[in-house]
Amino acid sequence: MNNLAYRLDDVATAERPNTGRYAAERLEGLAATLFRPMGADGVYARTGAYEEVVDALAALITRHRDPVAEVFRFPPVMSRRVLETSGYLKSFPNLLGCVCCMDGSEAEVRGAVNRFVEGGAYTDALNVADLILTPASCYPIYPIAAARGVLPDDGLLFDVGCDCFRREPSRDLDRLQSFRMREYVRIGSADQISAFRESWMETARGIVEGLHLSYTVEVANDPFFGRGGQLMAVSQRQQSLKFELLIPVISAQQPTACMSFNYHQDHFGTTWGINQTDGKPAHTGCVAFGMDRLAVALFATHGSKAAKWPAAVRQMLRL
Ligand code: 5GP
Ligand code: ZN
Repeated sequence: MNNLAYRLDDVATAERPNTGRYAAERLEGLAATLFRPMGADGVYARTGAYEEVVDALAALITRHRDPVAEVFRFPPVMSRRVLETSGYLKSFPNLLGCVCCMDGSEAEVRGAVNRFVEGGAYTDALNVADLILTPASCYPIYPIAAARGVLPDDGLLFDVGCDCFRREPSRDLDRLQSFRMREYVRIGSADQISAFRESWMETARGIVEGLHLSYTVEVANDPFFGRGGQLMAVSQRQQSLKFELLIPVISAQQPTACMSFNYHQDHFGTTWGINQTDGKPAHTGCVAFGMDRLAVALFATHGSKAAKWPAAVRQMLRL
């Protein structure tokens, strides 16, 4: 049995008792169609069949792009200082992945390598670098926007994307440590962000309906760290700052967040000194597409062979 499949298999039989053996076998086959193990939970080699669907989804999202949006694709690493300034450590320190390098003297590096060769530890020679693994694709855009000076009256709109990392090792196929995120990011007045978010929540519904996926859209909160984080989560929900589009990927009882619609108020505007023409800090919002979760949702719903998916779905994806 494919090692990755066990979780889907377990859940399929335990939580979907009526779907029986056939469904369990189908889901087990699914993991083998999509991924190959790479020696770490939540970090997988992706098959061509899977990537074809991820590419098709990316193109579908692009077809819904406002022509004024400016496009950026970011590397999987970003400046540690930029992420620290953004406030990430206060909210999600436990999810952080940081780059470490052996940048000591030649003698120190050689000593560490020799210790490794002799079966000992070498990692004490690693030093924390000025790079961090990007945890969401919108963080790098705010300093870029800030460098432009005062916002134009219409605000700004960006299309961003990158490979993201969150330290959440898991064998669930819908929780990866390394996954692709695409976002549209709006910077402007509170009203402009509100209109952007409303309109995207509507558009997103149309997209998932066109893909014949079951879904709900619900108020949500980010997984803020620790006890203090619970207060932040409650406040975020009370103010409806985050909505998620959930799809029953593994189980109907615990559907998976495949897109999120976020309003950051003036947090990034204040942090980065992005100002509106009246001098007030800009407001920001983003709609995030979890590319891997959306692709897994399609396979889980329609089966492991994209060639056999409903014609309307294939047409929508131009497969
Ligand atoms: P958020 O910033 O709202 O937590 O994440 C944005 C989107 O990224 C989520 O709606 C989801 O689709 C995707 N995402 C977040 N965490 C994970 C994860 O652990 N695995 C995968 N595959 N996607 C994730
Ligand atoms: Zn974002």
